[in-house]
Amino acid sequence: MLEMMVVLPVDHEADAEQLEQRFNRLNVELQCSECWGISHQQVVFALGVRRREVFRLGDTLEWAENRSLLGGGRPANGACVVEGRAECRGCGAALSVSLHVSGDRLQRARALGLFGQTGCFQ
Ligand SMILES: [Zn+2]
Repeated sequence: MLEMMVVLPVDHEADAEQLEQRFNRLNVELQCSECWGISHQQVVFALGVRRREVFRLGDTLEWAENRSLLGGGRPANGACVVEGRAECRGCGAALSVSLHVSGDRLQRARALGLFGQTGCFQ
């Protein structure tokens, strides 16, 4: 599958409270790229309509009409890969998480490395 890599402006300086207000959240089990521990984590990501409820893998995202991807609009074909941010419950590392969307659904999440330092989302 061809996947479009895009960069969404997750603010590196924003505190947790700000992130919660501005971004959506995904509850998912992740393997930490730093300590290799597996734990349930909450990934914060900027995609789709901002909602308070927490998403799970397989959930369908809501898109804002007539908006760019940055504004919460739908990516081409309802598919893209974006960077989310999570914090490992084991070692506390701020993790860069790739979120794979296809068919308008959150399909996959993988911890790639330290947030903002993987070079995958530039
Ligand atoms: Zn860890």
